[in-house]
Amino acid sequence: MADTSAQVTPFEASGGTRLIERLAAIVGARHVVTGETDLSAQTANVLHGVKGLPLCLVYPADVGEVSAVVRACADAGMPMVPMGGNTGLAGGTRPWPAGQCVMIGLKRMNRILDVSSEGGTMTVQAGCILADVQAEALRHDRLFPLSLGAEGSCQIGGNIATNAGGVNALRYGVMRDLVFGLQIVLPDGSVLDLNRSLRKDNAGYDLKHLFIGSGGTLGIITAAVLRLFPKPRAHMTAMTALRDADAAIEMLGRLSSRFGESLTSLELIDALTIQLVGRHLPSIAMPYATEGDWHLLIELSGRDETELAAGLEELLGGAFEDGVIADASIATSIAQSRNIWALRHATAEVAKHLGPRFANDASVPVGAQPAFLAEVRRRVAAWPEAMLTVYGHVGDGNLHLLVGFPGRSADDPAIPELRRAVEAAVTATIVAFNGSVTAEHGIGFNYLQKLIDSRNAAEIAVMQQLRRSIDPRNLMNPGKVVPT
Ligand SMILES: Cc1cc2nc3c(=O)[nH]c(=O)nc-3n(C[C@H](O)[C@H](O)[C@H](O)COP(=O)(O)OP(=O)(O)OC[C@H]3O[C@@H](n4cnc5c(N)ncnc54)[C@H](O)[C@@H]3O)c2cc1C
Repeated sequence: MADTSAQVTPFEASGGTRLIERLAAIVGARHVVTGETDLSAQTANVLHGVKGLPLCLVYPADVGEVSAVVRACADAGMPMVPMGGNTGLAGGTRPWPAGQCVMIGLKRMNRILDVSSEGGTMTVQAGCILADVQAEALRHDRLFPLSLGAEGSCQIGGNIATNAGGVNALRYGVMRDLVFGLQIVLPDGSVLDLNRSLRKDNAGYDLKHLFIGSGGTLGIITAAVLRLFPKPRAHMTAMTALRDADAAIEMLGRLSSRFGESLTSLELIDALTIQLVGRHLPSIAMPYATEGDWHLLIELSGRDETELAAGLEELLGGAFEDGVIADASIATSIAQSRNIWALRHATAEVAKHLGPRFANDASVPVGAQPAFLAEVRRRVAAWPEAMLTVYGHVGDGNLHLLVGFPGRSADDPAIPELRRAVEAAVTATIVAFNGSVTAEHGIGFNYLQKLIDSRNAAEIAVMQQLRRSIDPRNLMNPGKVVPT
């Protein structure tokens, strides 16, 4: 972990009480949260819980209030931390420096401003919950395809700030591919309006891409124009037991050739994860009895269910005959499809049974995944107390590698050193395969050291220059994403 305390210059923060009064005058006193109990409850992150508290948490109602709040913080030299649904897995919303930052929550800015079915766009405020945006698109007979386990609480602003991926990225791309326009409040409080609904726009630099995936370090996203797609009429879900990890790539090739863009998701789950789900969440049924080392979830979507079903049956039959898969089950009802997806989404939930653990959100070139997995397993096996489980978006080359130490306590003094050593081995393997240490969760606060270990100095220097040019005083989410 990088020593971020040494990387951030001292702040000019002073007069906390005066600042709180000024913020209350902007958003209304009841939208400024102070006091330990309320702050703990409202700033707890799904992953790290409460790690220090901010000076206060403010909930502005519109872009004008966000701008005024940011200006007030900038005047006071007070660091700011943007907060969406707080489901991020990289520590990006950690209140840092503790006690000396203002968190700015977007939850009151949750209005859908416009939907154009014909143009395929939806304009939203950044605090909209992802599931609400999906539902609104369906009401207009359209699809907003971003989908992930936390969709009931994560916000569009957070999805954009993290450039979220999710289970449909294989077909529809990541959040970057789903945004036409953005409105951002910059670190000095000025508003940068890039909120256009244009499919084609080559006028100068495409600035919105700088802010997508910037983890709240370059400004606060207040609104966006999102891209909608035609709603698929038919879905098919299947699960297969694979011969080995190579078979996942072979299946990707066969499925892509046969179904093209109808191949929506391809998710890999290892046997250990399946066992954990079976043991701890028995209400989720495994769709077949075969105990393979690797299992593959397949989701197809398109216009014609009969056509998809016939094609999938034929393809799976051929793969079985060729020995690529050992078993398969095609869902024949919505309940069966939901059960298969519940199994996939339970992977994060059952991880807690691994004891103290850490996650790697790796990506490598798609075809390199089997060799990469074999090498990671080989390297982690050097620590017999470590247990490696794997699941993820294999169609995108994105694998979540969880390393746990079952039976050990989080307070065990040996754990930090063990973790450091195993994590270094995993990172070295990712680098050796020309991969990324974070495919979709982002660098946030937790993975700065991994960025430093995996990217060349020139790349990091350009990131630092960009950051300084937009936030010269280092007030917007300091200590995150890029070492300062
Ligand atoms: C069960 C589970 C499953 C998940 N599955 C996936 C998955 O499949 N794919 C995936 O990519 N992620 C996944 N995630 C991670 C997480 O849900 C995403 O990163 C999500 O995009 C975060 O959105 P949020 O609103 O919760 O952001 P937060 O956690 O609130 O914030 C994340 C970062 O964005 C910044 N930020 C938030 N809002 C704004 C804003 N309006 N303007 C500027 N910066 C902002 C914050 O400062 C922080 O740095 C999962 C998480 C959980 C708990």
